[in-house]
Amino acid sequence: MVTRRDFIKTTALGGTLIATGQMSNARTIIHSATKPDSGFIQDSEKKIPVIKDVDIIVVGGTSAAVAAAGAASRAGSKVFLIAPLSYLGDDVCGSFRIICDDNKKLDNPLSKRLFLTSKNPTPLFIKTELENELIDNDVDFLYSSYATNILVDENDVPSGIVITNRSGRQAIRCKAIIDATHTASVARVAGVRFTDFKAGEYAFNFVTVGSEPQTIPGAKLEKIPYAVTIKNKQLPVVRYTFQLHVKDDSYATIQEIEQTIRDMTWTPDQSDSSDILEYIPFVSILSECESRNNISHMQELALESLKPKGVKNVWVLSPSAHVTNETAEKIMQPVFGTSLGVIVGETAAMYARDNQLKMNAKVRTPSTKGNKKGEIRELLNPLRPDMNCGFVTSSNDVLPVLGNYDIVVVGGGTAGAPAGISAARQGAKTLVLEYLHGLGGITTLGLIGRYWDGYRQGFSSEVDKGVRSMAPLDHPRQLKNWNSDHVSDWKQEFFRKELRMAGGDLWFGTLSCGALVTNNTISGVVIATSHGRGIVLSKIVIDCTGSADVAIAAGADYNYTGKNVAVQGAGMGHWNPGDYYNNNDWIFVDDSDVLDISRVYVQAKKKINGQYDLVKLPQTRERRRIIGEYTVSVYDVISKKRYPDTISYHKSSFDTHGMIVDPYFILSPPEARHTIYDADVPLRALLPKGLDGIIVTGLGASADRDAMPVIRMQSCLQTQGFSVGILAGTAVREGKAVRGVNLKKIQKHLVEIGNLPDRILKEKPHKGYSDKEFREAARNLRDNYSGLELLLTDHERCRRAVEKEIINTTLQEHRVIYSSVLCILGDNTYASVLANEINKSNLWDKGWDYTGMGQFGPCMSKIDSLLIALGSCQDSNSLPVILKKASILEPESSFSHYRAIAIALGEIKSRDAVPVLYELITKPGMRFHHISSFRDARRKTVPGLNDTSVRNAALKEVHLAYALFVCGDKNGLGKSILKSYANGLQGHYARFAIDKVYSSL
Ligand SMILES: Cc1cc2nc3c(=O)[nH]c(=O)nc-3n(C[C@H](O)[C@H](O)[C@H](O)COP(=O)(O)OP(=O)(O)OC[C@H]3O[C@@H](n4cnc5c(N)ncnc54)[C@H](O)[C@@H]3O)c2cc1C
Repeated sequence: MVTRRDFIKTTALGGTLIATGQMSNARTIIHSATKPDSGFIQDSEKKIPVIKDVDIIVVGGTSAAVAAAGAASRAGSKVFLIAPLSYLGDDVCGSFRIICDDNKKLDNPLSKRLFLTSKNPTPLFIKTELENELIDNDVDFLYSSYATNILVDENDVPSGIVITNRSGRQAIRCKAIIDATHTASVARVAGVRFTDFKAGEYAFNFVTVGSEPQTIPGAKLEKIPYAVTIKNKQLPVVRYTFQLHVKDDSYATIQEIEQTIRDMTWTPDQSDSSDILEYIPFVSILSECESRNNISHMQELALESLKPKGVKNVWVLSPSAHVTNETAEKIMQPVFGTSLGVIVGETAAMYARDNQLKMNAKVRTPSTKGNKKGEIRELLNPLRPDMNCGFVTSSNDVLPVLGNYDIVVVGGGTAGAPAGISAARQGAKTLVLEYLHGLGGITTLGLIGRYWDGYRQGFSSEVDKGVRSMAPLDHPRQLKNWNSDHVSDWKQEFFRKELRMAGGDLWFGTLSCGALVTNNTISGVVIATSHGRGIVLSKIVIDCTGSADVAIAAGADYNYTGKNVAVQGAGMGHWNPGDYYNNNDWIFVDDSDVLDISRVYVQAKKKINGQYDLVKLPQTRERRRIIGEYTVSVYDVISKKRYPDTISYHKSSFDTHGMIVDPYFILSPPEARHTIYDADVPLRALLPKGLDGIIVTGLGASADRDAMPVIRMQSCLQTQGFSVGILAGTAVREGKAVRGVNLKKIQKHLVEIGNLPDRILKEKPHKGYSDKEFREAARNLRDNYSGLELLLTDHERCRRAVEKEIINTTLQEHRVIYSSVLCILGDNTYASVLANEINKSNLWDKGWDYTGMGQFGPCMSKIDSLLIALGSCQDSNSLPVILKKASILEPESSFSHYRAIAIALGEIKSRDAVPVLYELITKPGMRFHHISSFRDARRKTVPGLNDTSVRNAALKEVHLAYALFVCGDKNGLGKSILKSYANGLQGHYARFAIDKVYSSL
């Protein structure tokens, strides 16, 4: 029998790599900055929200985990499953165990469905089947979440878990835990003892799709008989097995090995590969009884080998069980894993039946002591008001220090990958942390591999040329429009290669979920991986999550939906090997809300049913934006404002993908396609107010939402990220804070490398508008709101200037313009002018239904815009005019009319509005558009990758419910509708409804 710890010994890693000559830079082989630092950081006492009480928690997303969850549920247990990836089937799809060899006996219905339905099941098919297994068996679940701690009762008996995800940290109480994680990460935090780790050579499997089998010294290869046919060409699928030296059992080491294997296997023909390395864990749990025999069927396995010694309530359903290597290898195969899953699921269900839930559970305190090096800040909110089952206490928790870097870049996306590359090129010890298993974010894994507008000089031009040079110019996958379109996997690899060549480290599968803060300076990032939770220390954090995750966890204030529900349409589309551009717009999704993300993964599977696979991140155009030291406004963009501290230069149009909210655009809508604006962004817009040691890039920067479309283009954000990396690298080199660096010198360098146009060095910053300019603008306003962007930069001066003009204006058309400006600023002196104008017609004009894709120009009619302005001055005398318009609405009337009515009545808040609102909302078809469960989500999915019907229906309902509620409500209907959205799965509607209902309770 092969002993577990010396499974396969062959050549040492370094020798292998140098011999292959495949490394872009041999230095990366011996680069060892990823060595884990010793030490622990002490956490303060925390109250963690409990989101659910269940019988059984299954942690893990393998096919075995799903089988266990389904079986436990069928046996009568209430089950919750936590999946680390954005899909189920880490083994089948993540490590590409996608086909089943003919000799294997499929002995459970799930494995039959997975592997008998098709000889070549697509990843999407597998993911859908596994998800349906959960939904159809009433198993609740969350994607993209890691377990971080265990809950225990007064006798240290496991009684639940703590998880983390992009919503923060939450707890779930339970009677039994099935730890289906590869390395038994839950058992680890439960204090389970493991066999000793021995440094040595271990085997790692990695699968590539698209490249012909390559001879790599020291690696075995196996051609997998799996047919992926794209454009009539069958792509080879190859599994490589490497035997590589492993020096320690840390995540850093695993990641270094994974990156090294990616270096060795990549070729330009490759269009897909494993997300996660497949290997037999280096250590196993010490169990109640080790299973020393090899087995043919899982029924032969003694379940005591899955039960950690001395720890109740936990089963280890993974190759980390106390079994032989051969059995561990079998457990990793989905056919056997699912069989074992069924056995463990049913066993745990029987056990749970006879046990009680421990309501006094608290977070287990580790025996290790830590240093108090700062405060660990993170988000600790219940996911929804109704998911609030109290709190559990965490006291004296400690987090291991997993690394110590000069610069940590969080999020290796559009801006993040370039930021990491440039920081590393500056000589800073740099680590890039990325949740997904590739670099480039939306530009690559998000399959938006095409520039639209944008400034393309400087680093972006290096990217374009670099991606092209990933293959010979006559390579069949070269794109004709290479300077605007990019082969997605080439671009991922270009970023990865450049980062590693510059000496930067890279950890995939790493979710940042908090910050270490000392005196309002960020000195580290809290992360979660499949190995658990820990801290990476850093001198400067570059937060490139596109949602300012680190800054917000650290306490930065931010702007988002809530007060209103205007958000850009988002997508989640299909992905076939070789695809690089699948743009779509059919949802609103809050990608920092784990419930919402999970809901969208469910809906997307139904939407793109029949495709090969789906993208692994929500394609969101709008996200949380910090409140920085400066906030870029629509007015700044339109008036081409210049700053002394410009850090990046942007070019695009007001491509709104939906509604606008800015008063300027309400009165003077953005042009129909295609006026290109060029906008500077000052460094202050990347610095969260009140926090040091952090720079925020991309979609998370400080800008008004209506201004963001002009500054969000990929080429601009790549360049922005690269410039920020230079700035951070300089700060580290000079031992200064970010705010202390000589920015003029940086700007000069950025101009030299083409990242900024040279005008930046010559132009004078804007000093503000004179009274004369205000007067002139007010006069010109009568010309279809000309100059309004100037006037709205200072509301009080605008009001005074406009008041002076309207007094001497007689023409009704001009008076309407002036009064609309005064009204929108809350001044009702001339409200009657607007009311009369609206009242002139007994009908509505042509309205607007919510449109995402291709939405340019107005998103409301003239009457809508005047109604919103009229409502803004909160004058109840205007009520009859508004109600008259509301009373002629029909369910099929345009959404913009509903929105205008709701906003106007929501400002006036009169009981007199209740009858008409109640009548409208009770008309057939107007209600019940919220999504309350995954089953509901699946059922309510309609076809169409740019569908707007679902959003129009829900938008009408939430707007009417809001207006009804704030005007006084009838039979509690407005409130109950808002509550159904507040507790539903759609994140942006939930944020809006919570803001309305729960803040007033
Ligand atoms: C559907 C769609 C179509 C678009 N069309 C175009 C177009 O045609 N042309 C164009 O130029 N622009 C387009 N854009 C805009 C542009 O793509 C985005 O503005 C830009 O890519 C955003 O860059 P970013 O760096 O802010 O975020 P991203 O590229 O999304 O990068 C963020 C990265 O951070 C990672 N991450 C997030 N949170 C964490 C965390 N907590 N821990 C670890 N990692 C984390 C993510 O996995 C991701 O890799 C489009 C955007 C979308 C969504």
